[in-house]
Amino acid sequence: MSELHRFLFDGQPVRGVLVRLTDSWREVLARRKDGDAFDAPVRHLLGEMAAAGVLMQANIKFNGTLILQIFGDGPVKVAVSEVSSDLGFRTTAKVVGETAASDTGILPLGEMVNRHGQGRCAVTLDPEDRMPGQQPYQGVVPLNGDDGEPLSRLADVLEHYMAKSEQLETKLVLAANDEIAAGLLIQRLPLEGEANLAGEGQRDQAEADEDYNRIAVLAASLKREELLNLDADTILHRLFWEEKLIRFEPHQGAVGPKFECTCSRERVSNMLRGLGREEIDDIMAEQGRIDVGCDFCGARYQFDAVDVNELFAEGPDHPPGSSNLQ
Ligand SMILES: [Zn+2]
Repeated sequence: MSELHRFLFDGQPVRGVLVRLTDSWREVLARRKDGDAFDAPVRHLLGEMAAAGVLMQANIKFNGTLILQIFGDGPVKVAVSEVSSDLGFRTTAKVVGETAASDTGILPLGEMVNRHGQGRCAVTLDPEDRMPGQQPYQGVVPLNGDDGEPLSRLADVLEHYMAKSEQLETKLVLAANDEIAAGLLIQRLPLEGEANLAGEGQRDQAEADEDYNRIAVLAASLKREELLNLDADTILHRLFWEEKLIRFEPHQGAVGPKFECTCSRERVSNMLRGLGREEIDDIMAEQGRIDVGCDFCGARYQFDAVDVNELFAEGPDHPPGSSNLQ
């Protein structure tokens, strides 16, 4: 069962989240089988993005959708994971051509999305109650470090993002295979952070630095294989047995991370209306019907001539030819 664990380090300005996506991750892969499946390195990148998205959403508890995107200049043009406030996630990619062969099923990030140094990573927070016209918050970072060096792992990119955009020191470990997508996030809290439980009065900066650095080094020692193969209790015990952890009730089952797609016939209908009657009639003339597939979950939505007439017969909000897709 997929699960998420949140914890604090008692008396220290550090918090953590550990996620293991198992059944939910296998469901994502099962929806893209055979000829439709992504190459192994892309699958594993998407697994890491799913795990990272869930970690970040759980960490900030944002009321809305957190969208993690990589815009690549290699064979992977776009890779995306989206996570709702109830930890429902979905992920997909657009790949043109083939990724390089890899015996391990893993490729450096640059091979897939940053061959020419133009790759970007974006984190978007789209609030549930967004007003019409209000733009979601978005932060964008290149896939290179401060000295222009290409970053070879998603975890490095996101640590860089947190430091640049959020001024938060963060340590991330991510890994995925075809069975599980998993991640560990450790983050330093501001000294006066309200979540700094059991803080014993004023701590000095050097001491806080030392605490965070020690915990970050422990977290970074977590090996990919351990993250993939060990259960949460074993991982946390092995890494932090000398620390005092305050653990919260795990999120699993109904309140845990789960695969969830937000597509619907209504949304597809709105999208088609946005294209305008003329465009739709052209497609109908060419193909006899409209067939829209969801890239995230594989659902197919079909519209015949009768459906198309209904689309444009409803309500005055969508006059023929109006377009909200740019
Ligand atoms: Zn869908």
